[in-house]
Amino acid sequence: MTVNQMPLASKASLKQYCRQEAETAKLAQGFAAALERFLTQNPTAHLNISLEGDLGAGKTTFARYLIQSLGHEGKVKSPTYTLCEQYHINKGDQKTQPFTVHHFDLYRMRDPLEWQEAGFAEHFDVPGFCLIEWPEKAEGTLPPFDIQLQLIAGAVEDERSITINTFSEQGKVVVNDIQSI
Ligand code: ADP
Ligand code: MG
Repeated sequence: MTVNQMPLASKASLKQYCRQEAETAKLAQGFAAALERFLTQNPTAHLNISLEGDLGAGKTTFARYLIQSLGHEGKVKSPTYTLCEQYHINKGDQKTQPFTVHHFDLYRMRDPLEWQEAGFAEHFDVPGFCLIEWPEKAEGTLPPFDIQLQLIAGAVEDERSITINTFSEQGKVVVNDIQSI
């Protein structure tokens, strides 16, 4: 598997063709490792990460591999009905800082501000990161994104193309640190 990394002057981006789910899993693991390194070096930082793509593109699958690869051992449920699932990541070692992951799926929101009415705004500055499926349902009312992931189904079953774009300095640091596997 090859990772085409294109560091640009003002932003980093990466495009990866995944021929099967195992390759999506590897990219999610590499991304998780880069996030973990960043959060260990910047223990109070928070990142907002969007997961975009059609139904069945693999957004929840990517989030599941990512959260599990951070050490979460239980289930990673799709937040389709709850809108948000929370994971406390604590490796319990001296090297890795504990942090929190909030995984959102806004597909079922009836109103773009429902996420605020549900009290979710406070999740956007706790140390760690938010992963947000269907951010477009919030119609631009969410805090700005550091990283955008776009998943597109390929011509062949199980094939996906995953593009990662960055919109902030901290997003760029993380994406530039994704190691090819
Ligand atoms: P979404 O959250 O985007 O609606 P899901 O992650 O729930 O999509 O579903 C994606 C489905 O596609 C899962 O059943 C997953 O096993 C399957 N799949 C097949 N190949 C891949 C791949 N390369 N990457 C991600 N998911 C894949
Ligand atoms: Mg989903």
